Amino acid sequence: MSKDFPLSHEELTALVKKFPTPFYLYDEKGIRENMRHFTRAFSNFPAFREYFAVKALPNPYILKILKSEGCGGDCSSLPELMLCEKSGIAGDYVMFTSNDTPAAEFRYAYERGDIINLDDITHIDFLKEALGGKLPDTICFRYNPGPLKAGGNAIIGKPEEAKYGLTREQMIEAYARCKKEGVKKFGLHTMVASNELNPDFFADTARIVFELAAEVKEKTGVRIEFVDLGGGLGIPYRPGQQKVDLDYVSREIRKLYDKIIVPAGLDPLMICWECGRPITGPYGWLVTTAIHEKHIWRDYIGTDACMADLMRPGMYGAYHELTVSGKEDAPKDHVYDVTGSLCENCDKFAVQRELPEIDRGDLIIIHDAGAHGRAMGFNYNGKLRCGELLLREDGSVVEIRRKETVEDYFATLDFSGLDGFTA
Ligand SMILES: *Cc1c(COP(=O)(O)O)cnc(C)c1O
Repeated sequence: MSKDFPLSHEELTALVKKFPTPFYLYDEKGIRENMRHFTRAFSNFPAFREYFAVKALPNPYILKILKSEGCGGDCSSLPELMLCEKSGIAGDYVMFTSNDTPAAEFRYAYERGDIINLDDITHIDFLKEALGGKLPDTICFRYNPGPLKAGGNAIIGKPEEAKYGLTREQMIEAYARCKKEGVKKFGLHTMVASNELNPDFFADTARIVFELAAEVKEKTGVRIEFVDLGGGLGIPYRPGQQKVDLDYVSREIRKLYDKIIVPAGLDPLMICWECGRPITGPYGWLVTTAIHEKHIWRDYIGTDACMADLMRPGMYGAYHELTVSGKEDAPKDHVYDVTGSLCENCDKFAVQRELPEIDRGDLIIIHDAGAHGRAMGFNYNGKLRCGELLLREDGSVVEIRRKETVEDYFATLDFSGLDGFTA
């Protein structure tokens, strides 16, 4: 089955006349319906909140849409905090899950009432010092289950090699310490997966977090009021892969809630996620034009986009489905490497991929690029990143980020200094 794209060949051809390729296109209707489905799936808990991982798609128009669907924002830097603020996402709708955090960023988050999620036990004192001797009323801690058996190591991979979070002992100590310091409200966070498609993985993560919340209450008297299960919910990039069944995940987590949280006296507990990829990933596409065709030891199609626009395939061999607009039903009887223009041989959107015959001028649609796509772009090789378009629910298309210009690329340089600079 061919992957979805919201525009017909005629509509896309018309759009490209107005907005030349390459560009990202996002589908507002798809994002909204998907977010509603996500929220519905978790309506079996007393309280639920998704903090959209801003790093996945840091565009204020998208953030505003997500906010209107009830989302908060999960940030890891000052510019991301500012982006949330500019998009109308504020206070406890902002989760500041940073690591190795500068003091000024903690101060900024504190002043706006954002939730601060600490990555280490030493950050209690660091934060206190940054805030002039006080702590916020609300604090969350990030848990790293490490190699502990209770950490479900078999499916979680190797959290003990991850730089994030506190150990189990440190978690207990950290809550006890903050309680003594007068902190009033507590959260517990963990994130131990990336692009995981196994639904049982997430129930297991919830179990680990629930058990720790119960232990924290027992040992310190601290009542955790929200748990943040992080991100890491995968999407089916490859044909044949299955979507994570959120209703199943939610039902399984609810069972654990009844078994662990309710008897521990922790009900009501708010369930939070900070997903990026499964929220916008399938509803964004990189649209590019085939501008060259070459036949050497392999057959190549050269596009007008490159790895600077979408880094995932080049950086870690990530698979993205490609379709050729208007040739969706044509036989896939050609094998191509589809490349960008970077002076790096890894700059390939697809390697030895079976595709229909591609002609110069064909529009190639790169699927599942709505998260960690444009956001991971860069300027290496003097490449100027492409812009972003939004397909509104009424069918209109608006530009929500323009293409970069040479002036943007030179913005940090002062050429006037060259006159007095003797080389
Ligand atoms: C990257 C990240 C996320 C989002 O991950 P997705 O795979 O996009 O869902 C959430 N939380 C933290 C702390 C992250 O680093």
